[in-house]
Amino acid sequence: MITNKVKILAVEDDRSIAKLLHTYLEREGYAVSDSDTVAAMRRTVESTQVDLVLLDVGLPDEDGWSALKWLRARSDVPIIMLTGKNETIDKVIGLELGADDYLSKPFEFRELLARIRTILRRTEKAAIQVEAPADEKISFAGWVLDPTSQLVKSDDGDLLHLTQAEYRILALLVRNPGRVIVRDDLMSAAAGRDWDPMDRSIDVHVSNLRKKLDLDPDLPSLIRTVRGAGYMFVPKRN
Ligand code: CA
Repeated sequence: MITNKVKILAVEDDRSIAKLLHTYLEREGYAVSDSDTVAAMRRTVESTQVDLVLLDVGLPDEDGWSALKWLRARSDVPIIMLTGKNETIDKVIGLELGADDYLSKPFEFRELLARIRTILRRTEKAAIQVEAPADEKISFAGWVLDPTSQLVKSDDGDLLHLTQAEYRILALLVRNPGRVIVRDDLMSAAAGRDWDPMDRSIDVHVSNLRKKLDLDPDLPSLIRTVRGAGYMFVPKRN
C-alpha cells in the first residue's frame, strides 16, 4: 500500500505539454501514463487502474466533454479538465458532468500539483468519512450541520426538520462538495443497506431535501443530479 504510486493518466495531444506533464509528475512521485486521443484514453482506462485523469478539452478525435461523460458513466475517478485559452467553458455544466476541477492553459505546474493534491486528499477523506463521520460542524449556504446532535440549523438558529435518512444523505453530500456521490453510497449512508434498482426512495429523499434547503427559487439547487450516477453537493458562493 505504502509503495503503491498514485497513477495519473494525462490525456493531452500537444506533445510538448504531454512530455512536460509526464516528466514533472513522475518527478513528484506519480506513475504517469499518456493518451493523445480519446480512443487511446478509453483503451488505457479499460485495461489499467487509474487514480486521477488530466483531460484536455481539445483533442483530435473527440472533444474532452464527451470523454468526460464517458469516464463518469464508468467511474468516480477524479478528473481535472485542462482548457485552452480560446476555449470557453461552462463550469456549472462541467461540474454537472462530473469534472472535479479546471485549469486553463498555460498553467503553472505548481498550481496543477496543488490541485491534484487537494482532489486526492478530498477523495481519500471522503472514502473514510462514509464509514467514520467526523464530528466537526459544517457551514454551508446559510446552514450549519452539527454531526454531534445530528441537527441542521439556519444561521439564525432555526431548526431544519429532517428525517434520519435525509440527515444522513445531506451529511454525506455536504462532506464531499463537488464530488459525485453514487446512489449506492447514499443509500447505504441513509439506510445501511444496498441500493435496489427498483427503489426510488433515494430520489424522494433528495427531492425533499431540496425543498427544505433551497428556499431561494432563483438560485440553482445545492444538490445537483448527475444523470446515471448520483448526486453532487455544489455549495453556493456568496
Ligand atoms: Ca489539445
